[in-house]
Amino acid sequence: MKALQYRTIGAPPEVVEIDTPEPGPGQVRLKVTAAGVCHSDAFIMGLPGDQYVYGLPLTLGHEGAGIVDKLGDGVVGVQPGDSVAVYGPWGCGTCYTCSQGKENYCPHAAGLGIAPPGLGAPGAMAEYMIVDDPRHLVPLGDLDPVANVSLTDAGLTPYHAIKPSLPKLVPGSVAVVIGAGGLGHVGIQILRAMTNATVVALDVNEDKLQLARDVGAQHVFLSDDDAISEVKSLTHGLGAHAVFDFVGIQPTMTLGQAMIRAEGDQVLVGVGSGSLPVGMLDKPYEATVRSPYWGFRSELFEVLDLARSGAVHVETEVFTLDDAPEAYEKLHAGNLRGRAVIVP
Ligand code: NAD
Ligand code: ZN
Repeated sequence: MKALQYRTIGAPPEVVEIDTPEPGPGQVRLKVTAAGVCHSDAFIMGLPGDQYVYGLPLTLGHEGAGIVDKLGDGVVGVQPGDSVAVYGPWGCGTCYTCSQGKENYCPHAAGLGIAPPGLGAPGAMAEYMIVDDPRHLVPLGDLDPVANVSLTDAGLTPYHAIKPSLPKLVPGSVAVVIGAGGLGHVGIQILRAMTNATVVALDVNEDKLQLARDVGAQHVFLSDDDAISEVKSLTHGLGAHAVFDFVGIQPTMTLGQAMIRAEGDQVLVGVGSGSLPVGMLDKPYEATVRSPYWGFRSELFEVLDLARSGAVHVETEVFTLDDAPEAYEKLHAGNLRGRAVIVP
């Protein structure tokens, strides 16, 4: 079968021919219907060899959807022909954390050698993929896999980032989204669908600011120091109730801290190399800083239901597997609107 693999440190991913995998006991093989392109892939492919821990060659793709194609021995609960989305942050499935669906925080996964597809295990950018357990499949039903595959990360991650802040996002509140790319443009819609907050989007790219407006941001500003006074003037000088940072580099983290209010939430989702001082005199009183990773298994059901209700969609640009390297080039150049989706 055809697959997109990262094979050499520092080199672009390559389209290669590899053996079609067979599902082992308890595993499920999917015929992939769609796979999303995430900035995290670009991040890991940018790591120097001594920091790269995902194995080579690596079949990319941690946002996956497919049709159940073949069941390993003992698999129950799914049937060949089912259209499913893949929950990616695989855990052990049996510990206290996993029992709550919080497999993204399974404390045993790394020690057991369990890694997400596309981030250690072979991912979704191939004609077929293996999913280690049917519990990692969520029915798509009538949802179009190409339009919705990215909800498994670009939807689930902002959803999980926003949900704990909902009690603070009361009518009259202001929420800031920094970075209106794949995750950010879905985050804006989640905020509009689930809160009464006024949503402000910041980006460095005018096209992304237009996208932010198109998907529901009420105010958009370039991501620079002037944005601080803009947010302050929208909040009687007090600052935002929550800032969701989908970039995570030093300038955006410093910016976020400067525009948050006392008791506000600063939520760091982007995987940049920034850091923040959090001492008594460094930030507003009782401001909370969180750095969430991906989301809970139950939350993927919730995100898909939000899409079913029509409240959230993903802007997609579709590429074939042969053109997948080009999707990564466009991502790198900042030229994608929303999410690139690979359709094998
Ligand atoms: P993307 O490339 O689609 O979007 C990034 C956006 O940020 C772009 O619109 C870009 O113009 C904008 N941007 C760049 N510099 C900026 C700045 N200084 N100020 C404001 N905006 C700026 O990326 P994505 O796929 O949406 O991923 C976003 C980030 O989230 C990445 O760092 C990715 O690795 C990370 N991520 C984290 C998790 C998690 O679980 N925490 C999950 C998925 C992705
Ligand atoms: Zn576990």
